[in-house]
Amino acid sequence: MSADAAHAGLNAVRARVDAFVADAERAQAPHLKCGAACAMCCKVERAAFAVEVDSIRRWLVEHPEVRASAQTRPRRSDRCAFLNDDDLCDVYPVRPMICRTHGPAVRVDEALAWCALNFAGLSVPEVEAAVPASSVLSVELVNRMLVVVNTQFVEAAGGPHRVALREALADAVESSS
Ligand code: SF4
Ligand code: SF4
Repeated sequence: MSADAAHAGLNAVRARVDAFVADAERAQAPHLKCGAACAMCCKVERAAFAVEVDSIRRWLVEHPEVRASAQTRPRRSDRCAFLNDDDLCDVYPVRPMICRTHGPAVRVDEALAWCALNFAGLSVPEVEAAVPASSVLSVELVNRMLVVVNTQFVEAAGGPHRVALREALADAVESSS
């Protein structure tokens, strides 16, 4: 299995998750505060599966203007390396799965979990009652699919299984020089 095949697998998982999350956002919309005005979940240094970070690297190689602007940003522990000065994601089309699933309530180890900014004022039983079961993404299922494609990628390309997102920028700069 080649690294390119692992990337094709990643794109297939992304398409499934994006479609599910779009439906979940519609179903849970009355309780969600997510939108362009909120970037709280990006105000952290992130890591992701190696295949996801390599996907960002590839995208940055093809987008020198984004790479150049990200390069000039000072490193901060309280912001993702790809959160720009307008609080927007510079690598949105290739953002990691964790970023794609933020917002609607999801299931983690059989329990519902959600961003503290959403479902304002609702108790756990009230959230459980408000959220259609068919709109709840299983994080475990997504991770299982990701682990499969990531293992294929690491076997083909080598390196660690988890990588800091910031590494994508350094590697893209190196690949492009
Ligand atoms: S998940 Fe929470 S922090 Fe992230 S955009 Fe939605 S409301 Fe904001
Ligand atoms: S990759 Fe984009 S969406 Fe994910 S944390 Fe960074 S800025 Fe936010």
